[in-house]
Amino acid sequence: MQVFTLNEGTYSVNATKKFVPFNPETDQFKDRPGSLFVNVQPFLVQLKDSLVLIDTGLGYSDAEGNLILHNNIRKAGFDPDDIDYVLMSHLHFDHSGGMVHHVGDSMELSFPHATYVIQRGEWEGAFTNTSSSYHTDIFDFLQRNAQLLFVEDSGDFTPEISYELTGAHTPFHQTFLLTEGSEKVFFGGDVLPEPEELVKKFIAKYDFDGRKAMELREEYGIKAAAENWTCLFYHGKSKSTGKVERIDGAFKVI
Ligand SMILES: [Zn+2]
Repeated sequence: MQVFTLNEGTYSVNATKKFVPFNPETDQFKDRPGSLFVNVQPFLVQLKDSLVLIDTGLGYSDAEGNLILHNNIRKAGFDPDDIDYVLMSHLHFDHSGGMVHHVGDSMELSFPHATYVIQRGEWEGAFTNTSSSYHTDIFDFLQRNAQLLFVEDSGDFTPEISYELTGAHTPFHQTFLLTEGSEKVFFGGDVLPEPEELVKKFIAKYDFDGRKAMELREEYGIKAAAENWTCLFYHGKSKSTGKVERIDGAFKVI
């Protein structure tokens, strides 16, 4: 199993929930008071029998109009048309924007040959949720054009890929565990978006159920250390992947 981090850049996000590109070399943190600074990075995982994309980023394009996500997949040595599964932790815009892209005035599927795997409750909630984090035009388009696999609760849909309904960040957020041989790769989505969230214990305001998210991070940390998981951190700045050590009850990500 091989993992590629597809970094879409660093962004600041404030109460408006808009993601504004932040260039650490030319922009100043102090010029954006009240903002959170995050990386946005989907992951590409090559399994023996399938090529898997985990979450899709904001779907921003470069100056030439090419999707940054497509550029990153090509740089990793693959073609966007070769993606078999797009696994979605949840449908907030910073995770779902890249499911589609704009060509001129029209929308196109970013991964026309893939099956998009979505938790059913998240999908249904996305249409009725009034939060600006959900861009329903994307979901309308997907409904008509994409191959969609709706999963419910927790389970697996291939021998290698299992999903777990966690709630916590959104009511129907899910995480993924990919297993091949003795290797285990865990994607915690926005329940475990950064390695620091394992080290510090806190309730985050941006979670639907912050206490549950905090408890889940503890549970995942324990399992990750015990089972030697490689964890993927979607918003991680200091690192995008890592293994977890637990010493005297405290976590360290290496
Ligand atoms: Zn996010």
